Amino acid sequence: MEWLVEHPDWLLMLLAPVFIVCMGLEWYVGRRHGKLPTSAHYRWQEVSCNLVLGGLHQLTDITVGLVVIQIYLWLFDWRLFDITMGVSSFLALMLAQDFCYYWFHRASHRVRWWWAAHSTHHSSESMNFSTAFRQSLMYPFAGMWLFWVPLVIIGFPPKWVVFSVLLNLGLQFIIHTQWIKNFGWFDCLFNSPSHHRVHHGRNPQYIDKNYAGVLIIWDKLFSTFEPEVAPVEFGITKPVNSTNPIKVTFAEWQDMWREFTAEGLSWRQRIAVIVQPPVGLSSQQNDNK
Ligand SMILES: [Zn+2]
Ligand SMILES: [Zn+2]
Repeated sequence: MEWLVEHPDWLLMLLAPVFIVCMGLEWYVGRRHGKLPTSAHYRWQEVSCNLVLGGLHQLTDITVGLVVIQIYLWLFDWRLFDITMGVSSFLALMLAQDFCYYWFHRASHRVRWWWAAHSTHHSSESMNFSTAFRQSLMYPFAGMWLFWVPLVIIGFPPKWVVFSVLLNLGLQFIIHTQWIKNFGWFDCLFNSPSHHRVHHGRNPQYIDKNYAGVLIIWDKLFSTFEPEVAPVEFGITKPVNSTNPIKVTFAEWQDMWREFTAEGLSWRQRIAVIVQPPVGLSSQQNDNK
């Protein structure tokens, strides 16, 4: 465990065999037995796009991570408490990190700047285990790491914070599937495939719901929980219609840049383009509330 905390980047590598076996089984069940809906099927172009995006995300995460860890170490000097890591402090860290994850994820849907990075994860109209790899290489540049700063200030050692972030991300692999309907009583407390399918839905009632990482309690606490009732229509309201990883990564950044630099806007309007909720069904609905 200590070794893994010292080398947190290995965590996802070590989990890779589990990821591969799960994908193989899901592909087999969906393809050979036809038990899964078409949106769960493995389409070669889509899956390879997801895997390339996962690789690019890892690459920028590791390189920019070298700078971010220095910032964390610098901030760690201002920590409020000296925390010795053990079982109870590790569980407290996981809980606190999951709470921060909820707010990171909520901001990623409600602030255009962060949505520009996060929309990559949502732009697939399929849902299977390979969707978990569909991440944006822009996360570290967009400032995802800012959301874990409170954990460092509280006094959790920076390497443990990084480890908890990656562990949370790794655990979320299992919720990207249509193979598992639900986990029974487990769904009351924890995020599950059913809750996360809702999160990936573009049905009006499913938009901007279920932001949870590991625990679903945050959504229930902050009124963003929605159960899976109607069949989920996967994707975003402004489809990307591409399996080119570069296009998928930068589609929303391009749109935002175009609107930011449009002629005749005041600076107030330009800043609004960056900080307001993304335009689309999502924001229209919420503005009408
Ligand atoms: Zn999301
Ligand atoms: Zn997801």
